[in-house]
Amino acid sequence: SATAPQTVLERIYGRVLVRDPGEPEFHQAVHEVLDSLGPAVAARPELAGSGLLERIVEPERQIVFRVPWTDDSGAVHVNRGFRVEFNSALGPYKGGLRFHPTVNLGIVKFLGFEQIFKNALTGLGIGGGKGGSDFDPRGRSDAEVMRFCQSFMTELQRHIGADTDVPAGDIGVGGREIGFLFGQYRRISNRWEAGVLTGKGQPWGGSACRTEATGYGNVLFTAEMLRKRGEDLDGQTVTVSGSGNVAIYSIEKAQQLGANVITVSDSGGYVVDEKGIDLDLLKQVKEVERGRVSDYAERRGASARFVRGGSVWDVPADIALPSATQNELDAQAARVLVRNGVKAVSEGANMPATPEAVHVLQEAGVAFGPGKAANAGGVAVSALEMRQNAGREMWTFPQAEAELSGIMTRIHNTCDETAERYGAPGNYVIGANIAGFERVAEAMLAQGLI
Ligand code: GLU
Repeated sequence: SATAPQTVLERIYGRVLVRDPGEPEFHQAVHEVLDSLGPAVAARPELAGSGLLERIVEPERQIVFRVPWTDDSGAVHVNRGFRVEFNSALGPYKGGLRFHPTVNLGIVKFLGFEQIFKNALTGLGIGGGKGGSDFDPRGRSDAEVMRFCQSFMTELQRHIGADTDVPAGDIGVGGREIGFLFGQYRRISNRWEAGVLTGKGQPWGGSACRTEATGYGNVLFTAEMLRKRGEDLDGQTVTVSGSGNVAIYSIEKAQQLGANVITVSDSGGYVVDEKGIDLDLLKQVKEVERGRVSDYAERRGASARFVRGGSVWDVPADIALPSATQNELDAQAARVLVRNGVKAVSEGANMPATPEAVHVLQEAGVAFGPGKAANAGGVAVSALEMRQNAGREMWTFPQAEAELSGIMTRIHNTCDETAERYGAPGNYVIGANIAGFERVAEAMLAQGLI
């Protein structure tokens, strides 16, 4: 029929609102994608009747499970575990696990939905999934984290596999947790299946540059956006939010490219360091001691000050890299950034900018890198880790980093060309959403009604 694409897309979104109540982040992520698909749907009349749009917003499988564990005093805790296997048209489900008290099914669905299009953009043959738990690792001993991970994997193991579903890390899940999870998987299965998890330690199947990949990738993507505008990172002032894995390696790559990175943050507040963040000290505080950014400020001396609460986006910068969590940069913060002359904002975290913030930035002509494209480096090197595991190979750091760099350039160019082709030059949101969607849609149509 001749129903306008926009009407079809609004009907799909309306159905999601009704069927999945209480999942605001999932609604936001779905709306953000559908909102940019109008021209792509108009160009493909075969989409109508295939149920493709109805199917793409419905996970193939959702697993919710009980995770009981005991703390060091012997007290019993019961958490909830999730794995949403969203779309496997392009390859095995792929996406991280998030351990954070805010995790619920709606959060995991939002992250899994984003992952479909992000993973499609990498061009590396991976589907989309995500998982996690409302477990809070903060303040827990290594032994408690281990017991939790073992209990979590005791259920998860029956659902995953190198050719089925390949989890990795996200917030609250790093090398330590992947180690405990892999150990339990190996014990239960009695098999050396390196490809069942990514983000592993290098001596036992991990990839060089996986730890650095998300942060490095986001800065490389930013450098490509700047290059389009005849600029580079050298001498630019950069603000970064967060102080986890993505933030730390964004700072490292930005500094390598000559930028002056002056902030980090956590849930307690932010640090401004006029001399530039001392990365060795930050790594010591965060990676070794698992401390807070206030500890960094205390030890850094006169150049750094800690601001309790407040918004890191109040600090003037040429480039802002939100690398903490969803919806951390709202319209008001975006207006402050614009007033202070920001040139580029690129998402290291998943959906850190609200839709209103994205609108403010784009209206002001700021180069905006959406997470689906800009932070795809992490999952891309995960796919390279899977490739190394399948071939029993172990690449060097320069080899892995060179691949990552090529992938980020390709993703940038794909988004840029797609945006141009659909009449929205410079709009990386439209470019990323349509290019990712087209790849998934192509595969789903070819594979029939499943
Ligand atoms: N959690 C990361 C992301 O948001 C990486 C996922 C992976 O490596 O599977 O893309």
